[in-house]
Amino acid sequence: MEKRRYTAFGRKYLLQNMPFFIVLALLFVIAWTHGEKQDVLFWISLFLFVAGCIGGLVWDKKRTTRFKCPQCGKLIRTPVVAERKGGDPIDYYCPTCDIQWQTGLREAED
Ligand SMILES: [Zn+2]
Repeated sequence: MEKRRYTAFGRKYLLQNMPFFIVLALLFVIAWTHGEKQDVLFWISLFLFVAGCIGGLVWDKKRTTRFKCPQCGKLIRTPVVAERKGGDPIDYYCPTCDIQWQTGLREAED
């Protein structure tokens, strides 16, 4: 088996996270500044923030189970380390090409 680096996947992954985090941060700030008044805007932003956090987790799970082999295009649904602890690499093995793709991504540390 060969090991190859495929950092484009990791870079795309992190880039996709950026606007998401900015929106979440904005919602948090709105909720925070309206926290004393507890007006409509407070509840809306709080609701969207919580929904965004849950949605983000689901989206994250979806993305890590939809890896396309950059060589043959095969869809790989499970990373090499399926049950990851903090710091474990999120790499994918393609049985067709016999290559383990190293994305450079790691499971977040708790
Ligand atoms: Zn392949």
